[in-house]
Amino acid sequence: KKRPAPTVDELAEKVTSGDRVGLARAITLIESVKPDDQLRSQELLEKLLPKTGRAFRIGISGVPGAGKSTLIDQFGVNLIEAGHKVAVLAVDPTSTRSGGSILGDKTRMGRLASEENAYIRPSPTGGSLGGVTKTTRETMAVAEAAGFDVVIVETVGVGQSETTVSKMVDVFVVVAIPGAGDELQGIKRGLLELADIIAVNKADGPNVEHAEKAAQEYRAGLHILAAGNPGWSPSVLTLSAQENKGLDKLWVKIQERHAKLKETGELAKRRGEQAVTWMRELFEQRLLAAFKGGRKAARQWSEMEDKVRAGEMSAVSAATQLSELASAGDEVKSDQ
Ligand code: GDP
Repeated sequence: KKRPAPTVDELAEKVTSGDRVGLARAITLIESVKPDDQLRSQELLEKLLPKTGRAFRIGISGVPGAGKSTLIDQFGVNLIEAGHKVAVLAVDPTSTRSGGSILGDKTRMGRLASEENAYIRPSPTGGSLGGVTKTTRETMAVAEAAGFDVVIVETVGVGQSETTVSKMVDVFVVVAIPGAGDELQGIKRGLLELADIIAVNKADGPNVEHAEKAAQEYRAGLHILAAGNPGWSPSVLTLSAQENKGLDKLWVKIQERHAKLKETGELAKRRGEQAVTWMRELFEQRLLAAFKGGRKAARQWSEMEDKVRAGEMSAVSAATQLSELASAGDEVKSDQ
């Protein structure tokens, strides 16, 4: 027999008391696109938000094969041994709920996945950047309310989602690997510019020297890049995720960054800005949903879409006409 869905109050209570089933249910609610669920999830977030804000929010990115999952697995286990609770949200813009995801596969972080104080969850984005923002930000909030004091957001360093994620976290780590030739060619410049910390991985065995050399090249290259970027001075370190070497250094650097952000008031400022962005995005989504909710507007909308798609109308003039329709609010209301 199917149990009735818990009320929002019950769910909030379960999440904050550390109940894992409750946490999973809350996240499922947040990911749901059903209008009813969306309303409930907003209510839930209202209740949980006061319990958030105390976690280390860490972004980890890097090209496939750089060693992100090996690193997060080991790093997470280390942190749990030190008494932390670690949540990992894997953002994969190519994934939908049904699968096809490169990230968030629990077998990638086998040891961490079996820890009671760890929670690993793929963050489906429905393929859109808006999806990255909404589900990821909200899931982070729920994880924090559930008592996870380290929240790691993992992204594949190949898309645009990194930029979005870098704005949601306090410290952004790029995992790099020593490659041949010019190191700065081996990693997308755009990704590098988001980094607070560059961790050159696989510094083990015959690779140690190679990795140190790569780190030197990154430092030199960053020196030049940073000249046009006042206030930005990322740290570069080498580590071996596989041999658990240098991960303590990484944690120290993360804590230092965090402490500095806090001291200078930058953390509060960033989080304030993040909250404003969140508000704006929610407002835009709701406004759009409300507008499309009117029958006449919905018809107009899809007609315009067809015309724009077919090249019969420009995006600009369609948007102009639609916003005129929207600002004549009575127009929208009158046919409801
Ligand atoms: P991801 O795609 O970025 O998540 O990378 P993975 O963690 O799956 O690692 C890719 C490959 O690199 C795997 O074969 C790992 O075993 C290997 N690897 C990861 N970290 C290290 C390391 O520190 N040293 C060495 N030698 N290999 C590593």
